[in-house]
Amino acid sequence: MLSPVKLLLASSLLLSGFLQAQSSCPGASYLATSCRDGVCRTDAGENPTNCPEDCADKSTQVMAYYTQAATCPPTNIYEPGSVSELQDTIRTIVSNGRKVKPAGTSHSATDIICADTNGDVVRSKNLKNIGPVEPFESHPMTVEVEAGVKFQELQEHLHNEGYSHGLASTGYGGISIGGAVATGAHGSSLLQSSTISSYVVALDVVGADGNITRYSEATTGQSNPTLWKALKTNLGLLGFVARVRLKLEPQFNMNVQVKYTTEDAFVNSPTGVADTVAGCDYVFLNWFPGQDTVQYLCGTRTNAPVDSPHAQNRLFTPDVSQSESDFAPNGLQLAMCDDNLKCDIESRRINDYQSSPPLIIAQNSTPDAEAVSRHSNLTGYSHRMITLQAEVFHRKNPEFSQLEYEGAMPMSQIQAAVQYLKSIYDRDDVCQPLIGTIMRFDRADDGLLMSANHARSGVAHNEQMVHLEFVEFWGYGLDDGGLERWVSTPYSEVIKHLVNNYNYWPHWGKNDEWVFTHPAVIARNSAERTLFNQAIAQLDPYGVFSTGASRRHGFISPQEGGNFAEHYYGNCSSQDSDGDGISDCTDRKPNEYSGMYMRIDDDGVGSGTCNVADSWNEMRSNFGADQEQNMRAGWDYDTKNHSYHASSYNWDPVWPNSGGRSWEVLMSAEFTADAAGRYCFSQDNGSTGTGIAQGWNACAQVWVNKNIVSEVGHDSALLRQGCVDLATNQTIRLDLYNRHHNANLSRSFISRPRWCFGGSSDCTPDRKFEQNQLKAISHENLPQ
Ligand SMILES: Cc1cc2nc3c(=O)[nH]c(=O)nc-3n(C[C@H](O)[C@H](O)[C@H](O)COP(=O)(O)OP(=O)(O)OC[C@H]3O[C@@H](n4cnc5c(N)ncnc54)[C@H](O)[C@@H]3O)c2cc1C
Repeated sequence: MLSPVKLLLASSLLLSGFLQAQSSCPGASYLATSCRDGVCRTDAGENPTNCPEDCADKSTQVMAYYTQAATCPPTNIYEPGSVSELQDTIRTIVSNGRKVKPAGTSHSATDIICADTNGDVVRSKNLKNIGPVEPFESHPMTVEVEAGVKFQELQEHLHNEGYSHGLASTGYGGISIGGAVATGAHGSSLLQSSTISSYVVALDVVGADGNITRYSEATTGQSNPTLWKALKTNLGLLGFVARVRLKLEPQFNMNVQVKYTTEDAFVNSPTGVADTVAGCDYVFLNWFPGQDTVQYLCGTRTNAPVDSPHAQNRLFTPDVSQSESDFAPNGLQLAMCDDNLKCDIESRRINDYQSSPPLIIAQNSTPDAEAVSRHSNLTGYSHRMITLQAEVFHRKNPEFSQLEYEGAMPMSQIQAAVQYLKSIYDRDDVCQPLIGTIMRFDRADDGLLMSANHARSGVAHNEQMVHLEFVEFWGYGLDDGGLERWVSTPYSEVIKHLVNNYNYWPHWGKNDEWVFTHPAVIARNSAERTLFNQAIAQLDPYGVFSTGASRRHGFISPQEGGNFAEHYYGNCSSQDSDGDGISDCTDRKPNEYSGMYMRIDDDGVGSGTCNVADSWNEMRSNFGADQEQNMRAGWDYDTKNHSYHASSYNWDPVWPNSGGRSWEVLMSAEFTADAAGRYCFSQDNGSTGTGIAQGWNACAQVWVNKNIVSEVGHDSALLRQGCVDLATNQTIRLDLYNRHHNANLSRSFISRPRWCFGGSSDCTPDRKFEQNQLKAISHENLPQ
């Protein structure tokens, strides 16, 4: 979590000879300027490794929120729209002999988000249902949410109904509940557990066989307590969590005050940390070591009325102008190589907080609302005082990578740890310009197994815990040595010391990858891993959900490498009657090729205009006999390479022959409606208008039963989407027509066809076409 900083020093530094003095550190990397604008500028040296946010392929590569921290190799990414579609998707993947990697919002920082080499990613993005508040087992108030619901969505929903899930909320609201439970994500509380996993009372989990099993506190918790504990921080290794049921309390108000203490009192008093936070229910603490200052937000539950319904905590988005925010990556890149500049920024940071406090009353409660007043003492609805809405964060912050080390340890050990940290900070003159050393608080829970706050040897149930976090800007242009020297130092030394000397348990969703294989970490979690491995043996013996990272971390599936497709699906898993790559077990039409029939042509494509495809006959007549074939994939692409046979396209199978650099493609299929209602379709080729420049000299159309329902690009009707009403099992003819011209508009080669089901109303198409939904058709007139 970071925020922009006031950085006004760049020009003077650039003039100062600073660069010669620091030549081995890429303080002036141009990538800090050019990255994050959505365009892969190869001429500026950008590539998928040094600027993944612009250059890696988002349709096939999972990327961490901090993209420099983790960008996964390409694979298939599925985004099922319902729990039953999720089950179908998992059956399809596994019966085809491939593994499954569940994905949430990819806010974890390491390759725990990546699929195995023979695995596909299944993202919970479209699993958004939230059930009613109702009693469940012994709990009077609970809610069941699908895994893709984000914290802020749940909080606002519950608030409207008068409920809350307490202080077990991440500080930033854009994280999925399924992903947060998987890694044991937390908020901050001195009174009770602030880890979301502690509030889970039931889970619906889809296994490798595609079946769904309900586990709950009163059933599994009694019959197999170890399995139940494992499931509540499952690391994505025990199946796909489709639904989570959480226990609730009535909504409450929180008073939050911005407070300060001196570093001297905080560090040198024998109980400095505990004394500082005493009396607070909620604390978000930032220790700025270069300024000898500790700032903390101290929250207490209160029966007092809110000062405003629009009261919010905007600690992560301080009061800076757009230009200051825009310049932040360059300033931080320079500061990465210059301790004095780092300290100067840190000083400005704390001055800004003091002159412009982070508790605000906004114009209204929408994420876009501007602050109308700033306060150091404010009472608001609980959730808005502890969690920042993701949209505010994105609007105010440049997205750049950070290296975040975090782990939890008992409060009883924090004072000694703080004194150790102070010795390192003094030795190295450390300043922390982003947000200082962070502390949040928790209570140990003996109902959990893998989360950082679980009760363990040396940590009793309900003991106070501290989540201790270090955040550094992850600059551009660094090799491994540079990362260690300019970003990780002194934190890799600090983390090793904490793990070796204190009961420090790293957060599974943060940290650098080496942390989880460090011998002291492996030794610390050995007993818990043994128990967790028993859960894996029970729920996923073949390792369908295992990955390279999980194996490296010491998690074992006893029958890893065995034929899981046959085990779960029998003989049909090795049969593919129509040769479309989907096994007969799950192929909706085992004897008819699933996918699209594609015709590609590069003759006479003199421009990307839509004017050559105004009617079906005109569009269809563009195609000669260049190349045509059934395809399992390829309708989604986004590349700067104009040659359609380049590897940056994911045609499957690839085109037998190569072709020119201006071309058109027609993709034809039957699409069958699963349910009665409105279906909307769209095509997006990246264009923003209809002129040749904004139209990107390209045309993209969606045809339903030979009528255009969506058309974008050059000379287009700018029809972003079109909808049709269909009956259950009704089949339509679907054609996608894309035309691309190679006229120096490098991004013209984009195709993002989407659909959605709106029930009784229109919807915004956001679902990719899955192979198994489509039947490739080469003929012209079916169905009428
Ligand atoms: C800006 C930012 C702010 C953050 N703030 C906090 C904070 O305040 N407190 C905190 O504790 N952490 C915080 N984190 C870390 C974050 O909470 C964790 O990394 C969390 O796991 C991310 O959830 P996700 O939905 O992005 O899951 P992902 O990162 O996509 O996945 C994480 C793991 O969960 C598994 N998983 C995801 N969904 C499912 C599912 N449905 N079923 C089974 N397994 C699943 C994946 O397989 C993977 O192993 C923050 C991270 C960022 C980038």
